[in-house]
Amino acid sequence: MLHDLIIIGAGPAGLTAGIYARTRKLSTLIIEATTAGGQLASLYPEKSIENWPGYVSTDAGHLSSNLIDHARTMGCEIREHERASGLDDKNDHLVVHTDKGSYEAKAVILATGMGLFKPKKIGAIGEDKFEGKGVYYKMPEMEYLVGKEVIFVGGGNSACEMALLACEKCDACIVHRREAFRADEVIVERVHNADIETMMNSQVVEIKGTDHVESVVLKQDGKLIERKADAVVVNIGTSNVADDMSKWGLELEEGLIKVDTDMCTSRRGVFACGDAVAYKGKYKQIVVACGEAAIASNSAYKFIKEPYWAK
Ligand SMILES: Cc1cc2nc3c(=O)[nH]c(=O)nc-3n(C[C@H](O)[C@H](O)[C@H](O)COP(=O)(O)OP(=O)(O)OC[C@H]3O[C@@H](n4cnc5c(N)ncnc54)[C@H](O)[C@@H]3O)c2cc1C
Repeated sequence: MLHDLIIIGAGPAGLTAGIYARTRKLSTLIIEATTAGGQLASLYPEKSIENWPGYVSTDAGHLSSNLIDHARTMGCEIREHERASGLDDKNDHLVVHTDKGSYEAKAVILATGMGLFKPKKIGAIGEDKFEGKGVYYKMPEMEYLVGKEVIFVGGGNSACEMALLACEKCDACIVHRREAFRADEVIVERVHNADIETMMNSQVVEIKGTDHVESVVLKQDGKLIERKADAVVVNIGTSNVADDMSKWGLELEEGLIKVDTDMCTSRRGVFACGDAVAYKGKYKQIVVACGEAAIASNSAYKFIKEPYWAK
């Protein structure tokens, strides 16, 4: 089957490109290596988003599921757990290769973000053993935390916001290895005004338990302290499993896809948007990714249909 458009990546950029493509009735397939939603769903679903216009505050999980529902309702086909690995030209069309097959399209939009992400580990003894059994890299269900003693590791917005969300349900303690948080001042102020213990200059060096986490050993100012803990929620950033961008056969700029103002790449019929692209002044934000996606989709439409008004 020949699709009008194939979009690679179902983060905010890919989903928005799909929504716009469907307003133009382009048959649209979105290919996603993990699950749809991008960084919002996979990295920080519980974090609040305070810069999505029209909402003073919403949470990332909610925003990403609305985007997914919107794209599906508009008629986008979304194939999850399928990783795109390359692009070939075939006659007038493009062929997208994945780990499960090949698909043809008249145009392609790359919305692969910063590649595939995985959370950074703290490197404590026992961390791997208890992953999923008290050690988490994203916020567990709130009901699970009720009445528990929970250590939040990290000093950025995500760690602080997760502790703020959870502190009414559990005993929350933030452990940060530096003497000051690097989170935004408004968030740090909220942490200090909330019922949250903070341990600065501290690191979790060991996680102990039998079947599940029961305690942690912390190193603070050179001293070892063991304390009871039911869960450890780690939020010290992510490392990206860099997708080798050179596989798309495109001109790159510092490893990212070089685009023109209409989001076209150096390859005919291939457009790009979101965190995957580079240009002067690029700002990696959801609203920017969505704005670029609208442009990329419109450019793909003009490329495919060559409407009279675009000549
Ligand atoms: C902790 C954190 C907090 C943030 N907070 C905010 C905030 O408050 N406000 C804000 O505006 N921005 C925030 N951002 C930035 C925002 O998340 C990004 O700018 C946004 O997610 C970019 O969207 P995207 O669709 O380009 O990329 P992504 O969200 O990264 O989505 C790309 C998708 O492509 C998929 N993919 C990658 N390679 C392939 C492949 N080869 N085949 C198939 N699929 C592939 C990935 O699995 C992923 O789902 C935050 C980022 C982080 C890390």
